[in-house]
Amino acid sequence: MVINLSNQHSLLTNWIAEIRDEAIQKDRMRFRRNLQRIGEIAAYEISKLLPYTEVETQTPLGISTSRILSEQPVLTTILRAGLPLHDGLLNYFDKADCAFVSAYRKHGKDGSFEISLEYFSSPDIENRIVIISDPMLATGASLVKTINYLREEGEPKNIYIVTAIACTVGIEFVRRNIPGCTIWCGAIDDELTAKGYIVPGLGDAGDLAFGQKIQS
Ligand code: URA
Repeated sequence: MVINLSNQHSLLTNWIAEIRDEAIQKDRMRFRRNLQRIGEIAAYEISKLLPYTEVETQTPLGISTSRILSEQPVLTTILRAGLPLHDGLLNYFDKADCAFVSAYRKHGKDGSFEISLEYFSSPDIENRIVIISDPMLATGASLVKTINYLREEGEPKNIYIVTAIACTVGIEFVRRNIPGCTIWCGAIDDELTAKGYIVPGLGDAGDLAFGQKIQS
């Protein structure tokens, strides 16, 4: 299932417009904060699907029956671009366990690239709700590689993917390779360049959040 959060009227579309805007992008703190806010909205929407338990809470004046989340998700992100979106999810799922994977595009001389995974740190994900954040779902190759890598350690019961901007080709690739996952997108664009950039997209999310890197 694919959920495009821009299909609902909400403040989220303001923040999508701002992260795309090349003038506003110059304010790196605002860029990161907007990605966090998109993560917060996604967390709230996902929270509507999660299991809850009734508990009795002692207030200073009596007993209140409340519902609290009965299971904590595992928030997983792909370094480094995923960090602001991950922060936003963690602001809401503040008791969640976290997993981190580092993935980068290793470019060949002909312009092609392969995804290289290096760092990996994760709790046991067997039968857990896993929420994976990546701000740009472009080809989908790094997401699929990351999820398959995680699954070598255990089989999650749900896989939710959170992305700020996705492109249609990447969505189809992920749906084909990870059947049953749900993808939450801030916006969906149609075009992908030969170098794997989304158009109109926003540029390089990692560079905009943290500065240009020297690796090609
Ligand atoms: N990663 C980015 O940062 N931007 C894109 O357009 C695609 C992948």
